[in-house]
Amino acid sequence: MTLRTEFHRRTWLLAIAVLMLACTRRDAASDGAPDLVLANVTVIDGLGGAPRAGQTIEVRAGRITALRAAAPDDSSTFDVAGAFVTPGLIDSHVHFDPRNTAAVRASLDSMLRRGVTTIREMACCAPDYAKLTDSPDSARFPRIYTSAFWAGPQFMRDDPRVAGLSGLGEVPWLLAVTDSNDLAGALRGARESGATGIKIYSDLSPDLVRKIATSAHDAGMRAWSHTTVFPMRPSEVAAADIDVVSHAALLVWEGTATLPSHYDGPHPFNPFGPPAPYTSIAPRDPRVLAVLATLKRRGTILDPTVAVIRRSIGTAAWAWTIEVTKAAHEIGIPLTVGTDGIPIFDEIEALVDSVGLTPLEVLRSATSVGAAAIGIESTLGTIEVGKIADLVVYRADPTADIRALRTPAQVIRGGRLVGALR
Ligand SMILES: [Zn+2]
Repeated sequence: MTLRTEFHRRTWLLAIAVLMLACTRRDAASDGAPDLVLANVTVIDGLGGAPRAGQTIEVRAGRITALRAAAPDDSSTFDVAGAFVTPGLIDSHVHFDPRNTAAVRASLDSMLRRGVTTIREMACCAPDYAKLTDSPDSARFPRIYTSAFWAGPQFMRDDPRVAGLSGLGEVPWLLAVTDSNDLAGALRGARESGATGIKIYSDLSPDLVRKIATSAHDAGMRAWSHTTVFPMRPSEVAAADIDVVSHAALLVWEGTATLPSHYDGPHPFNPFGPPAPYTSIAPRDPRVLAVLATLKRRGTILDPTVAVIRRSIGTAAWAWTIEVTKAAHEIGIPLTVGTDGIPIFDEIEALVDSVGLTPLEVLRSATSVGAAAIGIESTLGTIEVGKIADLVVYRADPTADIRALRTPAQVIRGGRLVGALR
């Protein structure tokens, strides 16, 4: 054996010995060693607190198990030096057509890669989403929380948006509701279908809406609606024990003498809805401000969906929506980030640039407030020990320029790097 061969043999033996030792150590430490370490990062916790530099986040079995000041020998699972970490973003107002499965999958996949790790789906058809959530590639999608869609019989009969959906008006996730419904049974069915909340929509009386909301809470579900549920006034909705109201623009209906009975005629959220009086009612009309005061007092969350108004309606409605959302923010009503069909960054930037939220405030809206809207705040929406490790890593500081959110360096879902899933 030449000296050279002997050297190689020794090197190999040494390498094998080191490898065996490493394996033994890993086995011995399998309880203690984190699956993922983000060392020396700036943490933006989602609660609105100031960013904390020099932190280390450890993740085990999909959860955040340590959050502490970084030690000099901490080393990251991947390169995060100088990075900023936020909780995964939560879009509180998403619509898909569940019949087009390929398109839904493509949208969900791209949302997750942009940092949206959770969505509240606001149309219907929980069983279709349950199939996606149960599919083997569900780790490539945001977590999906769905609503059962409830409205009066007229809506189910006449509205073209739901025409042709299977089970229309009959199934608990797409139900025509009247006073004679067995609400407890229907709620049980809605819950079993996978829905988290009831979306209370149109053509319902104030009494019935109140009853639905209270029964939903009794059944462990959330009550969600628009800021008006024709023919109800926004003030009646605000008093009806709803957890989250969507669309600041629809608060305009508090100022009118009479309200439409249902969505019919040209309308911001429905080409078949009634025209809204954005030029004759002031956004700070005392009647509108009184509704905001009720929402604030009751702890109701507002899902304002401002950017979609600019895109789809026009300048009067846009100006009205911005001003009323400012008023809501000024008195401390918690706002979510709900997109209703537009990219999430457009809504986030509109809330900062036009409504006047600070980047920290909008990040809180897009994380912990979004989690509270869905009712999952004990497990998601913040960077805290014990929470599910849904995180987004950015190279630039989003609190210095919120546009940094547009280019996440890495998205982590349940402790797994999303980039490694494809
Ligand atoms: Zn919507």
